[in-house]
Amino acid sequence: AGKAKGHGGISVFTPAMHEVVAQRVRVASELRAAFSNGEIEVFYQPIVGLADGTLAGAEALVRWRHPVRGLQPPAAFLDIAEDAGLMVELGRCVLTQVVQAAGDWARDPGLPEHFSLHVNISPAELAHGDLTAHIRRLLDEAGLPGPRLTVEITESAIISGGPDTRLTLRSLGELGVPIEIDDFGTGYSSISYLRTLPAVRAKIDKSLVDTLASDPTQVAFVDAIVRLIHAAGLTVVAEGIEGEAQARLLRELGCEYGQGYLFARPMPASELGLLLRSLQEGGHGAAR
Ligand code: C2E
Ligand code: MG
Ligand code: MG
Ligand code: MG
Repeated sequence: AGKAKGHGGISVFTPAMHEVVAQRVRVASELRAAFSNGEIEVFYQPIVGLADGTLAGAEALVRWRHPVRGLQPPAAFLDIAEDAGLMVELGRCVLTQVVQAAGDWARDPGLPEHFSLHVNISPAELAHGDLTAHIRRLLDEAGLPGPRLTVEITESAIISGGPDTRLTLRSLGELGVPIEIDDFGTGYSSISYLRTLPAVRAKIDKSLVDTLASDPTQVAFVDAIVRLIHAAGLTVVAEGIEGEAQARLLRELGCEYGQGYLFARPMPASELGLLLRSLQEGGHGAAR
């Protein structure tokens, strides 16, 4: 243990700080165990076509069903996983579950045309050389074509990533797996990279959608962003849509896809399976 106030007058390491560190170490080791004992779950949040409400896909969002603390959102453990070097393993765990579920749904009840499952990929996974080989193997095993999976990568991960990241993105593109820039508008806001990447979609961050219905200047701002993305030849997804007014404005601005509590919250795999079944029986793709 360090000294709280040494004679040099510098606060080094208090008992409270020690407790925080110890807690993070405990959580990291619990997390390591969670990978193999089935506590890591994937929830799915529908993505819809804004023009007609059809189900275009779903985003896979990791959850940790902790035996004591209950269902944990990513904010409760992702940065600990990062610090402990567990992001590659966590990503593998999520990808395996998602592709298996997609394979099952493709056989029964069947997936809507162009339906794609979106998976968030961390910088650590991108830098790890064999991501593409791993995804190829999973898709082969499940008998799925590349476009059934979409990888979501933040603009900061793209910009801060080195040549390896670029190579991985290119090889994923060649595999037919669409690449989507996540949290667009929150990062470095460097836009020159937009045209040089094999990305096909950009997802406008919730923070830009939040004030859309209450602040007229925000409409002009998002309008410009949508035009920019379109000019680069990409389609637009908006996340965090909670109200009808936001959905209508985004539709008017030409935003193609939307995701948010207005349409559906993240749900367990079993619930998305039921939704897919009801669409199959209904004979059309309307998600609501
Ligand atoms: P993200 O990729 O931007 O995902 C969208 C987040 O916004 C999700 O939070 C989702 O539940 C939430 N959200 C969607 N619509 C609404 C809405 O209308 N209102 C509100 N208030 N929230 C909405 P979640 O599931 O807590 O995930 C947070 C972040 O954790 C994700 O942000 C993503 O960056 C990261 N994450 C989640 N799953 C994974 C994963 O499997 N791997 C990696 N590397 N990161 C993940
Ligand atoms: Mg995402
Ligand atoms: Mg996002
Ligand atoms: Mg976001």
